[in-house]
Amino acid sequence: MADVHQAALKARIVKALEEPKHSAALLRCMQRGRDNRARALTELPGGADFRGTVKAVKDRCIEHQVELVNRFIANAEARGTRVFCARNGQEAIDYVLKLASDRKAKVIAKSKSLTTEEIEINDPLIEAGLKVIETDLGELIIQLVHEKPYHLVFPSVHKMAADVAKIFAKETGTEVSEDIPSIMKVVRAYLRPIFLNADIGMTGANVGIAENGCIVIETNEGNGRLVSSIGDCHVCVMGIEKIVDTIEDAMLMVLAHPVSASGQLPTTYVTWMGGRSPLGEGESRGPRESHIILLDNGRRSTRDDVAMRESLNCIRCGACMNVCPTYGVVGGHVFGHIYPGPIGIPWTAQVHGLENAGAFASLCISCGLCKEICPAEIDMPMMIAEVKRRFAVEHGFAKAERTMMGADGFAALGSAMAPIANRMIQSKTARKVMRATLGIDERRALPPFTHQTFKKWFHARKRVSQESKRRVAFFVDVFANHNRPDLGQSAVELLERLGCEVALPEQRSSGYPFIAYGNLDKAREVATFNIARLAPFAKDGYDIVATEPTAAYCLKSAYLTLLHSSNDSEFVAGRSHEFFEYLIDFDTGTTEFPSLKGRRFGFHISCHQRPLGAGHGAVEWIRRHGGEVKIIETGTCCGMGGTFGLKSGPLGYDLSMAVGKPLFDLFNQSGVDAILTESSVCAIQLREGTGLPVYHPLELLAQ
Ligand code: SF4
Ligand code: SF4
Repeated sequence: MADVHQAALKARIVKALEEPKHSAALLRCMQRGRDNRARALTELPGGADFRGTVKAVKDRCIEHQVELVNRFIANAEARGTRVFCARNGQEAIDYVLKLASDRKAKVIAKSKSLTTEEIEINDPLIEAGLKVIETDLGELIIQLVHEKPYHLVFPSVHKMAADVAKIFAKETGTEVSEDIPSIMKVVRAYLRPIFLNADIGMTGANVGIAENGCIVIETNEGNGRLVSSIGDCHVCVMGIEKIVDTIEDAMLMVLAHPVSASGQLPTTYVTWMGGRSPLGEGESRGPRESHIILLDNGRRSTRDDVAMRESLNCIRCGACMNVCPTYGVVGGHVFGHIYPGPIGIPWTAQVHGLENAGAFASLCISCGLCKEICPAEIDMPMMIAEVKRRFAVEHGFAKAERTMMGADGFAALGSAMAPIANRMIQSKTARKVMRATLGIDERRALPPFTHQTFKKWFHARKRVSQESKRRVAFFVDVFANHNRPDLGQSAVELLERLGCEVALPEQRSSGYPFIAYGNLDKAREVATFNIARLAPFAKDGYDIVATEPTAAYCLKSAYLTLLHSSNDSEFVAGRSHEFFEYLIDFDTGTTEFPSLKGRRFGFHISCHQRPLGAGHGAVEWIRRHGGEVKIIETGTCCGMGGTFGLKSGPLGYDLSMAVGKPLFDLFNQSGVDAILTESSVCAIQLREGTGLPVYHPLELLAQ
């Protein structure tokens, strides 16, 4: 059943991959957004720490939402604004239809509003005979070509100047040159009479303020201000989650939006609006009206849904889209329903239904980058996993997903049958059978299995007792156990040379594939098992160390979420370390070690490593030992996405390689001798994508 659902998505991916110019434009826009944000953070007091403050404000406001909404209504009405609470999109549409009918309106000028996109208000208004014109350039472009937004902040980012010139030439019946100033001249002439003659101006709002009943509208083109102030009637459609408590809270949002979206401080136009100017009273045209529609449309029930509640913290900055690897390749028409991108998955599930969200949720490869950039620190990967879980309850898991979630069992079998299993993964016929039965792409080189697993080696070896300076509990994970036990062995031997006592507690593999594909019950079971085994070691003073970044990420972050920050999971997280981040503290470079002088490495940071030190430990360690190393990155993922790139076809190998292409090119152009990465799966992807040798830094010990 799930495979049937994915067939439609796969067809859309194939189509998107055939239009690389859309992806190229989108990737440039995403890169610009990330670079500008990074630059702006250096100017912002506290830098990236503002994220914690935004989260705290949003958490507080959502917690007190009922009271804030009531206070907002009272204060807005005291300013002469009429406030209507719409339970759903239809009620909001009916209110605007009646308003237009009462006022005998013919033209509605709109400013950019995702909330009105959400309820698809334009079609019923147009069907009722109204002329509805978007005045934000990006929105206007997609309105004219009858498309949905490609990006939350830049809805027509996939349209080139030449496309836009053609669109306006067709709309205006004039010739339009393809240069931006000429296009803008035509657009201004097109929009001016609409601003001046609209009967109703319709906007969204970026913020509502409970303490004074005001709204805040942020734009860069000034159209929000014109639409809300020129005409006699303004109607604002705003989700109730936008309401904050105080003006200070609103000020924070007014900075957080543009910094996160495009690195601006703040947008060019910020309109603070409390009712309409009383100057209109008594004029011959009559008083000017102000209406606010407060939209629920699933928001109140989201607040009561513990797993999804955090999605209400979204401030619609679009930063998560600027980092999402698969979104960057397939774009918002594939990676989205109406709301595109990472937040589009949980948000669609809440306001447009699970079926619509499930149709594109499997594009999330669980890299975690959206969580790291989100100004409200929303744990999107875990929320998306919950959407996948709910969808799987209805439709089951796809074949390849079941295979990937069984990776641990397959690896154990592979090790047990090592010589035969290794011949099979080299055989073209066997690989075709594996594609048909397991959904593993036959183009993907699979790492061979070893009969002697790391765990067997560890338990069989003879240890020389010595006085230890530190005690380490080693967390091995599936790859180092079954495919590359030599990495685990090198790690243990190096730790022991540096005076550590190393123990290997009973453990299961990290279980991250269960999170990635949405089997959260299983993920929780694994987390519970591992935390129960590791916590006694942590309490006994052991540091817990993992060589695989994803395994360390589970111990330090994902298990906390799965186990609701239980005491033991907090304790384990506090004592867990990524291998080189740990090592760098006490390996001062005096260890006898083959010199790396004269060797030039490019270092790849795996996605799950970013919150763990972003490879700083490994890079520093290599430099201490004489190696030349530079970090080479696109700022997003190599495309492997854990086990995603092992899956066959468009929703696996093809998309994975398309995501990785810009990074492969960077490595190939860099002139390095070899690539270093600590992630076993990234290593597979980079080896295949670049043709360069790829090593784990621990492998350098043996060279
Ligand atoms: S976890 Fe990665 S792939 Fe998934 S939505 Fe976030 S950025 Fe995109
Ligand atoms: S989820 Fe976070 S990063 Fe994405 S749009 Fe919302 S606030 Fe911005």
